[in-house]
Amino acid sequence: MPEVNEKTEYMDFIREAVAEDLRTGRFKEVHTRFPPEPNGWLHIGHAKALFVDFGVAQDFGGKCNLRMDDTNPEKEDMEYVEAIQRDIKWLGFDWEDRLFFASDYYETLYELACKLIRKGLAYVDDLDEEQIKEYRGTNVPDKNNITYTPPGKNSPWRDRSIEENLDLFARMRAGEFPDGSKTLRAKIDMAHPNLLMRDPVMYRIRRMPHYRTGNTWCIYPMYDFAHPLSDAIEGITHSLCSLEYEIHRPLYDWFVSNCEVFPSRQIEFARLNITHTVLSKRWLLQLVREKKVSGWDDPRMPTIAGMRRRGYSAAGIRDFLGRIGIAKTDSMVDIQLLEHCIREDLNASAQRYMAVLNPVKLVIENWPQGRVEWLDAVNNPENPQAGMRKIPFSGTLYIERDDFRENPPPKYYRLYPGNQVRLRYGYIITCTGFDKDPATGEVTEIRCTYDPATKGGDAPDNRKVKGTIHWVSADHAVPFEARLYDYLFEAERPMEVSEGKTFIDNLSDHSLTVEKRAVAEPALRELAVGQTVQFERLGYFCKDPDSTNERAVFNRTVTLKDSWTKLEKKLLANG
Ligand code: ATP
Ligand code: MG
Repeated sequence: MPEVNEKTEYMDFIREAVAEDLRTGRFKEVHTRFPPEPNGWLHIGHAKALFVDFGVAQDFGGKCNLRMDDTNPEKEDMEYVEAIQRDIKWLGFDWEDRLFFASDYYETLYELACKLIRKGLAYVDDLDEEQIKEYRGTNVPDKNNITYTPPGKNSPWRDRSIEENLDLFARMRAGEFPDGSKTLRAKIDMAHPNLLMRDPVMYRIRRMPHYRTGNTWCIYPMYDFAHPLSDAIEGITHSLCSLEYEIHRPLYDWFVSNCEVFPSRQIEFARLNITHTVLSKRWLLQLVREKKVSGWDDPRMPTIAGMRRRGYSAAGIRDFLGRIGIAKTDSMVDIQLLEHCIREDLNASAQRYMAVLNPVKLVIENWPQGRVEWLDAVNNPENPQAGMRKIPFSGTLYIERDDFRENPPPKYYRLYPGNQVRLRYGYIITCTGFDKDPATGEVTEIRCTYDPATKGGDAPDNRKVKGTIHWVSADHAVPFEARLYDYLFEAERPMEVSEGKTFIDNLSDHSLTVEKRAVAEPALRELAVGQTVQFERLGYFCKDPDSTNERAVFNRTVTLKDSWTKLEKKLLANG
């Protein structure tokens, strides 16, 4: 047990296990891997796996490989390989020169399969997919409704001779048999209580070009066979994976031990689940295919690319991953914790600007005709080194439509006829009147007077006004489009659906609101795509790649209101 002081944190169970393996000499070093299948873009759940795989290696002075687990020609693509690498780099993890592909091991895997045949531990089967399933058996409830698993049935082809199996397997590879007509299966135990151990399929025949090996192969290894052996080929000491692979572990160990290869050890940890979203490539792919979102990098997606486009910072995401920790049982993490981490990081780093999302005109009646004043504004109150900038102030401004009410509700401290507010960095104004469109009832213009003695907050009379509102000078306003996001799914757990419904039915119909008439101070022009800033009072915003020279597009990353801290206090109070 490590000594407990301020600097020593308790290790999680994975680090405990790894430390134990080093102590006992089971392994001399630590070598992990992150093994995505290139059949989709990475999501925040994968980021957790990256955090664990790279983190454990780093903590023990070891290495971490990046391996594309690409043994299924049907769904894999170079597009995904590239996106995966881009996202891992952006998150700040570095595999250096250790990028590998399971498809590079096809020949070795084939040899290992032959080795199992020669040991009498694998056979070529003529049963088709349906029959294999039927022979294997399934879990059934007994008369007390307790699940049990009656033994399966041996395939009639199970006892072929080694010579015949070697010959048939070679001819499967040579393309002599049609797709699906034969498989290679491990010979384990058709009565095993774990269904995965009932002679699992190792190879299937599939005539489909693979994105890397083309038409070289017409047989492809199954995941349960390819994965442990790929780990072994790379000398992976600790094969860390999510909990759903726990039930595969006996099979993992069976292949490792019977192929007599490097004895990698599999350890499972809890999958990350987050409220109001789904974390599975299969479901995310469905959203993309059915055009429920604009693509894998839609800012509402829980993908790394979506989060980056939305303006989430890599540092904020890593902070979140560190806080949720590593557990042995699956749990659901509140999305507000993720937002909280992003907000905290951006609060420290993002430069402030003034913008108005839904503008209404404000005319200062006593402002000298044509005069422009350049006011001093603080770039980031959290970081004095960010300095100051000048923003133009004039007699015609835009303010937020929502910052004015003809009839204010109680405790409304913003603008209404007769009331005073401060214009951020500028003057105190008094509302003197307004115009309405008689047809629509919409306010078209607000009028006010300003007090020249109240500039910048240090009024000589020290007058206190309760409200401060933001504004943009009309003559200097830079138009842009603002995209405001809400949760992709209204339900906290989108996968929990009533009968006849799917998670698609849980999609929110207001996850995206577009403000096409937004305006901002001139400095907005200098921002590059991908930069995240704070628009005062409105939230953090990130410049989107859809921006053109004429018109910028900004995604709202997250609002300023933090409900997490409150929620956390409530949770703590309730024990
Ligand atoms: P999905 O369920 O999204 O399709 P997957 O498990 O099929 O994911 P892989 O490409 O096989 O995706 O995953 C690569 C690694 O990421 C695996 O080690 C897997 O255990 C891990 N992983 C995937 N999803 C999560 C998650 N939600 N939380 C933690 N780890 C995850
Ligand atoms: Mg998988």
